[in-house]
Amino acid sequence: MASIRELHQQLIEKERSAVEITQEALDRIQALEPKLHSFLCVTAEQALEQASAVDVKIAAGEEIGLLAGIPIGIKDNMCTKGVPTTCASRILENFVPPYESTATQKLADIGAVMVGKTNLDEFAMGSSTENSAYQVTANPWDLSRIPGGSSGGSAAAVSSQECVVALGSDTGGSIRQPASFCGVVGMKPTYGLVSRYGLVAYASSLDQIGPFANTVEDAAILLSAIAGYDPKDSTSLKVAIPNYAANLKPDLKPRGQLKIGIIKETFGEGLDPVVEQAVTKAVDQLQSLGAEIHIISCPRFRYGLPTYYIIAPSEASANLARYDGVKYGYRAPNADNLLSMYTRTRAAGFGTEVKRRIMIGTYALSAGYYDAYYLKAQKVRTLIKQDFEKAFQTVDVLVCPTSPTTAFKAGEKTTDPLSMYLTDLMTIPVNLAGLPSLSLPCGFDDQGLPIGLQLIGNVLREDQLFQVAYAYEQSTSWHLRKPQIVVGH
Ligand code: GLN
Repeated sequence: MASIRELHQQLIEKERSAVEITQEALDRIQALEPKLHSFLCVTAEQALEQASAVDVKIAAGEEIGLLAGIPIGIKDNMCTKGVPTTCASRILENFVPPYESTATQKLADIGAVMVGKTNLDEFAMGSSTENSAYQVTANPWDLSRIPGGSSGGSAAAVSSQECVVALGSDTGGSIRQPASFCGVVGMKPTYGLVSRYGLVAYASSLDQIGPFANTVEDAAILLSAIAGYDPKDSTSLKVAIPNYAANLKPDLKPRGQLKIGIIKETFGEGLDPVVEQAVTKAVDQLQSLGAEIHIISCPRFRYGLPTYYIIAPSEASANLARYDGVKYGYRAPNADNLLSMYTRTRAAGFGTEVKRRIMIGTYALSAGYYDAYYLKAQKVRTLIKQDFEKAFQTVDVLVCPTSPTTAFKAGEKTTDPLSMYLTDLMTIPVNLAGLPSLSLPCGFDDQGLPIGLQLIGNVLREDQLFQVAYAYEQSTSWHLRKPQIVVGH
């Protein structure tokens, strides 16, 4: 599929209609889904209606925005009015929200066409999308491998061009890690930039919605559309939203003005040498584009993972208390009393990983342990944030690998939660500090699997991330490679 700008041009020049573009996406979904399983639900009828509304506007000579008529996938943890929102959990199997999330509402308002809801790890807890209660999504580059997670459905759908762009959510890496594994661009904005209203909460102080796209420019266009202050989210930032896609330049000149820091601690033990090599080459490329390269130390970066696995489960244990069979979602039948209804509902409705997190979180927050675990983790979170603050006194943007490895085989890590958690080692500190970060393709391993380069920016410096990513992308050809499943189709 073409880029947003190309499709927009075709629409306004009446070369193709929005209905035709949408139909192309729906046809591809129909052809590829038996192999990929990226979507939990395809909203074909609604999509064609939305597309034909765009065509009516074009026929009437009205101006349309860049995203009007563009097929989009939405991670199934964002509430969509009248369309099932399951979070890939049995407990929300029949839940149809009575309201729309702010991010998806903004897209609907400008005529973007939602083609369906994408698969995820249950309640966004996981790194491979294997924790979905419904299906395992395949990696388009190798169907025996996982697409990453938790937004694996969105990443696979964009990589296989079942839709042009998609939304995901990122609590500890759930946009960037699957973007890296599927060879696409994925972006986690500054905490508070995109409203969380209608995003089903996992860990509220870490969750952010962000874009998936095949190109940096498409990701920038999508972020500009969904960002912005929302009175319905008390953590939403009151800031003006730039047009991130405007004025992107193909280089980083004047030479030496933009300073990029390599995070020293992300290299070494545990890092796949092929990933290390690709990232090192990418840094050379950034230097030749005009950036000044520095080596930066973030000594507390390595405490990110243990800190996250106290804070995220703690918040999750509180957020998930609402699924009790009373208000909405699944309710266990034939319980004798209220307590047994609660426990039976939660025992049957939640999967293993979700239960594990609820138990860890409840433990960490309980009286007597709170100071030792939760409070301590909050203090370490501040230290990690201070490492980043110090780094940004010297450089503008930080770089490191997105994940220590490329995509692994389905089933490879399901029995060992710790090894699964480790795949987010390099993305998690960014969420703890609330910073923006982007992953984009920077190479392939010897099995033809994509490798991701992670760029981390200072608070609200999404513009710089897009600029660095764009210059890199335009000077390389990784983003032009397509998985066989697309080429062969
Ligand atoms: N993989 C991490 C986890 O399991 C991050 C998930 C996310 O970002 N939603 O919690």
